[in-house]
Amino acid sequence: QSFEDFKLNRQILNAIADAGYETPTPIQEKAIAPILSGQDMMGIAQTGTGKTAAYVLPMIMKLKYAQGNDPRALVLAPTRELAMQIEENIRLFAKYTDLRAVVLFGGLGPKTQIAELEKGCDIIVASPGRFLDLYLAGHIVTKQLQFLVLDEADKMMDMGFIGSIHRILEVVPRKRQNLLFSATMSELVHKISGDFLKFPTIVEV
Ligand code: AMP
Repeated sequence: QSFEDFKLNRQILNAIADAGYETPTPIQEKAIAPILSGQDMMGIAQTGTGKTAAYVLPMIMKLKYAQGNDPRALVLAPTRELAMQIEENIRLFAKYTDLRAVVLFGGLGPKTQIAELEKGCDIIVASPGRFLDLYLAGHIVTKQLQFLVLDEADKMMDMGFIGSIHRILEVVPRKRQNLLFSATMSELVHKISGDFLKFPTIVEV
């Protein structure tokens, strides 16, 4: 299989080629088409399998171009390192589009992040706690969100983010596409996926 086989546009295919990716990894082969078709997904995949591009590519394809100032996609990640890595992937693959991504995490003052949000964005990558803080302080409008991704869900559960995630689920629109990625399928991951995913396609590598 080749990236050309997916319904991705030329801007994205050119960015993939620039990144030096020649063939999709197994998780990418299995995940890209169902995400493009709008399905919810539970992906069981470790870091290193190419799971980030597996959801970032179809997400960028579906968002296409910048629109308004309010985010249409929210990617939640357990750590600052992972959030930054995801945002780098988004920048890499969205380089020939005008899509704007903002990354939010704790451990430093919120001023710069608030200034970034005020410029408008299409995608937010965030740790759950900082996302909620900035949402509750009125800096984020969630009504346009149509994509919600939980990356490394098992790690988020281990780190005690289940309460924050439930709060976030209460403040996002009901009609949206949900993606969950986890290295393992623990009891808590099973529970959160039940609260979160609707008739998901399950892919495992
Ligand atoms: P991830 O599992 O998303 O953290 O990705 C692990 C590493 O694999 C990253 O350095 C990616 O840039 C790289 N990668 C992901 N997909 C591909 C691909 N299709 N071809 C080559 N490298 C890839």
